[in-house]
Amino acid sequence: MNTVKSDVTIVGSGVIGLACAYYLSKLGLKITVIGRGNPPKHASWAAAGILSPLHFERYPEQLLRACYKSFDLYPELSEQIKDHAGIDVQLVKSGMHMLVIDKQDSRQISKVKHHLKKHQTSFQNCNTSRICKALPFITKKVKSSVFLPDIFQIKNNLLLEGLRRILATMNVKVLSNQNATHITVQNNKVREIKTTDKIYRSSFFIVSTGPWLNEILTQTSITLKMTPVKGYIILARSSSDSFSTIIKHKDFYIVPRLNGDILIGSTLENAGFDEINRLGAINYILDNTLKFAPGAAKWKFEQVWSGLRPLANDRPPIIDKHPKIKNLIIAGGHYRNGIMLAPITGQLVCSLISGQNNLDEISGIFRFR
Ligand SMILES: Cc1cc2nc3c(=O)[nH]c(=O)nc-3n(C[C@H](O)[C@H](O)[C@H](O)COP(=O)(O)OP(=O)(O)OC[C@H]3O[C@@H](n4cnc5c(N)ncnc54)[C@H](O)[C@@H]3O)c2cc1C
Repeated sequence: MNTVKSDVTIVGSGVIGLACAYYLSKLGLKITVIGRGNPPKHASWAAAGILSPLHFERYPEQLLRACYKSFDLYPELSEQIKDHAGIDVQLVKSGMHMLVIDKQDSRQISKVKHHLKKHQTSFQNCNTSRICKALPFITKKVKSSVFLPDIFQIKNNLLLEGLRRILATMNVKVLSNQNATHITVQNNKVREIKTTDKIYRSSFFIVSTGPWLNEILTQTSITLKMTPVKGYIILARSSSDSFSTIIKHKDFYIVPRLNGDILIGSTLENAGFDEINRLGAINYILDNTLKFAPGAAKWKFEQVWSGLRPLANDRPPIIDKHPKIKNLIIAGGHYRNGIMLAPITGQLVCSLISGQNNLDEISGIFRFR
């Protein structure tokens, strides 16, 4: 068996594993990332790429702050990817309309506004005629919307490709078809991780395997409550409606991409590790979206896909050292915000490894629990 030695081995090549590799490599460390499958199937690819909390009112203060901090890292990251990997990740200021149609929406939106004011996030109130003029496919029953002009999106599949390419220029090995099956712990330290054909040895190990985190953690005598929450995206195109803003109503959203693709999502389904695309879920999304965007019925259906969001203990992600094993770091459970939180996760992991914690004001919320 081949032995691969590095300073840090990262298991899981979703957006979290790749972002950790990027920021750790910038510290001058020798990094190896392993992932199973080629190309790997994961939520990072399936996501909608919205760089914003979807429910501001439900987020604890520290998590919101972490989202804002993470977002601030994106312009530099996307520039670096463009300059060194030649990929434009399409970091676009789309803005987002949050629609108010019924009483429940009105109550929710007033809580959202409270949070936005507190965080000095700018927003505008839009009336029915302004919304319907800009977005003629929206229901005339819409009462108003809160428009957030500073919300960005990113094309997450290009982000993944860009991270892989920039990591190659930084001499980081990202190895596919590597399923980590065994972890060997001696004297409260991970000695090695094994796949079917290789052994990985390093000073630190990071487990960022999304909803599959427990496959490795159970071997270290702990388990987390990690729930896979399935989400679908329907891909559509329109020859008549041209718009550039994200539209959100309750748990559903429409995200227009620069190339004319329109993403419609999503479900929050507790279906275990089922990765089959079920007709019922597609029906559920369409049923709900066509209520607030009836004009979308004439858009062309292109494709559907799904992914499993990792939800940790029904709460924020865990980005922390293993409680018993000194050189093992857990970075997982990013649920609906993994794309948004990827850069700050990379930086938090750097601070755990270097011992220089300059992110005190947010790190508490990500502690192991
Ligand atoms: C429909 C949908 C829409 C979303 N929209 C957004 C959005 O708009 N904005 C946002 O911020 N977030 C969004 N998310 C959430 C986001 O996609 C996730 O939070 C994020 O991708 C989690 O990243 P991850 O790297 O932790 O996990 P994953 O992407 O699941 O990656 C984990 C990787 O680990 C690999 N792996 C697992 N076990 C092993 C092993 N034993 N050995 C080797 N490799 C292993 C897996 O194959 C996988 O490649 C969305 C998710 C979905 C499903």
